[in-house]
Amino acid sequence: MPDIQYSKNMRWSKVYVDSAKDLFNHSKVRRIRGYKVSPLHQPAQDASCISKGNRYDVHVCLNYGTEQRMLEDVLFALAHELAHTVHWDHTSKHLILTAEILRQFALVTIAEQVPDTQLRLVSDHRRLRLR
Ligand SMILES: [Zn+2]
Repeated sequence: MPDIQYSKNMRWSKVYVDSAKDLFNHSKVRRIRGYKVSPLHQPAQDASCISKGNRYDVHVCLNYGTEQRMLEDVLFALAHELAHTVHWDHTSKHLILTAEILRQFALVTIAEQVPDTQLRLVSDHRRLRLR
């Protein structure tokens, strides 16, 4: 399967994405990209999954206002978008798959000994820091 390209600020998420690769359509994901927005222009949507030919680009917002988003929020957004590679519409099946992917991500937080899932992300680095 082709590799997923990660933006520098989302490379930390590879260990999570890889842990759930049997649950979603890994070969359909082209890129996973993090972005920041101005606190003055915070969009209602915090992530998206955009079709690029026969593959998808996943975009995840990494800030909320002036703060970096919490790890658990970003993982939920990522699980939601990856579930779209299997179930495009927001059906119960999509929600169940989101939950299954998020469960895998939670197991990674155990393996990685993440002390607090509400830690704020250091967006350009895998390390996490306290709020
Ligand atoms: Zn969605």
